[in-house]
Amino acid sequence: MKDHFTDVSFPRRVFRENLPLALELKKVIWKYAEAVREKEKCETIKIMNFCGTHEWTTTRYGLRDMLPPFLNIVAGPGCPVCVTPAHYINAAMKLAQDGFRVYTYGDALRLRSTRSDHPGSLEEAKADGGNVKVVYSFLDAVKESRADGKESVFLGIGFETTAPSSALALQEGMVPENLKLLSVLRLTPPVMKYTIKLYQDRGLLPIRGVIAPGHVSTIIGASEWRFLSEKHGLPTVVAGFEPIDVLMAVAQILQMLKERKPDTKIEYRRLVSWEGNIYAKEAIDSVFDKTCAAWRGIGFIPMSGLRLKDKFFDRYDALKHFGLPDLAPSQFIYTNAHHGIPWKHDLPPKCRCGEVVFGIARPTDCPMFMKNCYPLRPWGPCMVSSEGVCNIWARSTSGRPSD
Ligand code: SF4
Repeated sequence: MKDHFTDVSFPRRVFRENLPLALELKKVIWKYAEAVREKEKCETIKIMNFCGTHEWTTTRYGLRDMLPPFLNIVAGPGCPVCVTPAHYINAAMKLAQDGFRVYTYGDALRLRSTRSDHPGSLEEAKADGGNVKVVYSFLDAVKESRADGKESVFLGIGFETTAPSSALALQEGMVPENLKLLSVLRLTPPVMKYTIKLYQDRGLLPIRGVIAPGHVSTIIGASEWRFLSEKHGLPTVVAGFEPIDVLMAVAQILQMLKERKPDTKIEYRRLVSWEGNIYAKEAIDSVFDKTCAAWRGIGFIPMSGLRLKDKFFDRYDALKHFGLPDLAPSQFIYTNAHHGIPWKHDLPPKCRCGEVVFGIARPTDCPMFMKNCYPLRPWGPCMVSSEGVCNIWARSTSGRPSD
């Protein structure tokens, strides 16, 4: 590949209207992909889009149609709403119905609970008179609960990008005692490690490269993804979210495969550095401990969640304050017949999100897709958020994805 593709000083326009660059990249991708296929005598080359926003770019702009048919870009588990266990939605709904105010992001409103006494979602709880309020950030909840003094809970769903706002507010002593945190914050490198192991354990066609998340990497730094190339030999590119960014990442991954020189690279240099945001990382470390945590459709993953440190936990943890139990592994296990393999998850019947988030199944492989499950009335969690793979495919392709 020409050096100028990766040279930040090259005056390229990385935005969607740069058709000449897109076409040039398309040629490079085809050339490299053919070379890899020839060299390795393989029928398919699989690359994972870790992040829901990359999946959106890939699907919305029809990038799969530009790529060789044997180059399979699959979705990854990078959608925090999709992997939020129903247990925490159940808890939030109960609190809202008991009259406590529950602050949440709009994306999480339609996540379904598994409560037998009151199935539904926070949206339905709100329609029934529950005290649910949508906010854009934890700081909005802080400001409002300070002003009105009401007993409130913030449903903290998110990855490393969301954690710093909660951490900084707690660290700076800005959070009033009447606002509690229900932490469903999750960490992305552990789930990527889990994904690789899952593919190995199940003998699935291996992932050959990873497009690593851009937004998360602005916080944690690209160095956190080095294990992919150093330990697993997987070319990895931290990419931005314009179509050109994704094409550039695919080209770089194929170049590394062709040359058999796996490495971790930053394509999204306009925002991402190797070390990330030191200030944000220190804030997270000073407020949270890493803990074994549950992922919906997946199970418990070691060191993949953020729990308030003891000095904050006693004052601000919502489950402790309201006397609600946390999720235990024994509540999270049952067997799903797909592939005849036991899965640990809490998905509604027939929902295949547990496979969709690993790129093992496509949304169109699910019998519910666009029949009983669609964006206005999601059945499974991957249809809820704009970052969920099923939601993206439903909105972008009218149920007719390009591959
Ligand atoms: Fe789950 Fe709906 Fe996607 Fe099927 S279409 S996997 S039910 S979210």
